[in-house]
Parts: sequence; C-alpha cells; structure tokens
Amino acid sequence: MRQVQPHVLIVEDEPSQRAVLSYNLESEGFRISEAEDGDAALLMVSEEVPDLIVLDWMLPGVTGIEICRRIKSRPETRDVPIIMLSARSEEVDRVRGLETGADDYVVKPYSVTELMARVKGQLRRSRPAGVGETLSYEDITLDAETHRVHRDGNLLKLGPTEFRLLATFMEKPGRVWSREQLLDRVWGRDVYVDTRTVDVHIGRLRKVLCAHGGDDPLRTVRGAGYALG
Ligand code: CA
Repeated sequence: MRQVQPHVLIVEDEPSQRAVLSYNLESEGFRISEAEDGDAALLMVSEEVPDLIVLDWMLPGVTGIEICRRIKSRPETRDVPIIMLSARSEEVDRVRGLETGADDYVVKPYSVTELMARVKGQLRRSRPAGVGETLSYEDITLDAETHRVHRDGNLLKLGPTEFRLLATFMEKPGRVWSREQLLDRVWGRDVYVDTRTVDVHIGRLRKVLCAHGGDDPLRTVRGAGYALG
C-alpha cells in the first residue's frame, strides 16, 4: 500500500538509466516525473516543485550544473534537494558540483542501493516528518504512517483506494483534480481503469467522510473534476 508519496524528478537523457532509476524509486513508493533534458526539467519544476531531484551531470543542451544553479537561485525551489549524477569522479568535479548548490553527488556507475539511501537521507533532512507526516484539513487528519484517518475525533474506515484519494486531496486542499489526474495519482499511469471508477470511489470516500456527520468536504466541479474544499 502506498503512502503519501514524495515526488522525485529524474533528469537523465539516457532512456535505460532513466528506466532503472524510475523503476527503483517507484518500488520505494515515490511518485516519479521524468525529464530527458534541461529545458524539460526546468519547465516541469516551474509547474510543480518536486520534493527531490536526481540530476544527471551530462545532458544535451542545458547542463546539469546550469540546471542546478538555476533551481538553487530561485527562492521557491532553492530548498529542493538535488542529487547530482556524474560519470566523472575527479575531486574538482565534486567540489564544483557542491558549489553549484547540489546537496549530494553520486558517481556513475553507482549502486542502486546506495543511491536509494542517499535519496532517503536527503528527504529525511528536507521533510523531517518524512513519509510519516500527518496531513490535516479542517476537522480531518490523515496519518500517512499509520494510515489512520480521523474526522472530528472519529476513526474512519477507508479502503486503500479511498485512502490514497483522500491523501491526494489533502496534499493540496482547494486544487481541482480532473478524473484523469486522479487516475494517474491514485491508480498509476499504467493501469487501465475507466474514469467512471473514479466517481465510484469518490462516492465511497464521501460516504465514509460523512459517516459520523459533518458536511461533505469534497466538491464536484462540473466539467473539471473534484476538489477538497
Ligand atoms: Ca547523460
């Protein structure tokens, strides 16, 4: 069962390396975005700030160093941990990497186990509560570690899909999610599920949320999707 997932952006131009990273990070429960060059990476970061970036040094076009510098120079993204990947192991590269503001530095070929440990270490530092964080919205609290949801002190019994739906809404109250976006987030991109399935699970979630009274906190946005609040 997945928890509230930290979002990791992988910036790597080699498809096979990207696939390995993506596979391993996804297995660890992270939500993944992928960019194959610097321009795509910067665009993605401006649309949604990730929790961590794994950044390849050698990229076509804008280099990894430049991307790192730009991300670290913007107030809204400077706290996002960046782990640089490089094929070059010279000490000078290491120093330059760190001068650009990269938080950590891994030399290729790297061990996947080591990289995962570095990713988790950086996330622990930047999100002290880690994946065990508690989200709250009005009288609803969601504990990502124990998977317990309370509303006004009452423990709610949610199925795994309803839990992930609620966690998604609670990460960004007020944001309108389309059915397609919810399918991506909650069911995963590779699973074929009809968008009407989303409606069914939203219905179940609403029922549980209101089981002990209280207003329905979920809003149906005609032609757009759903939002919390
Ligand atoms: Ca490369």
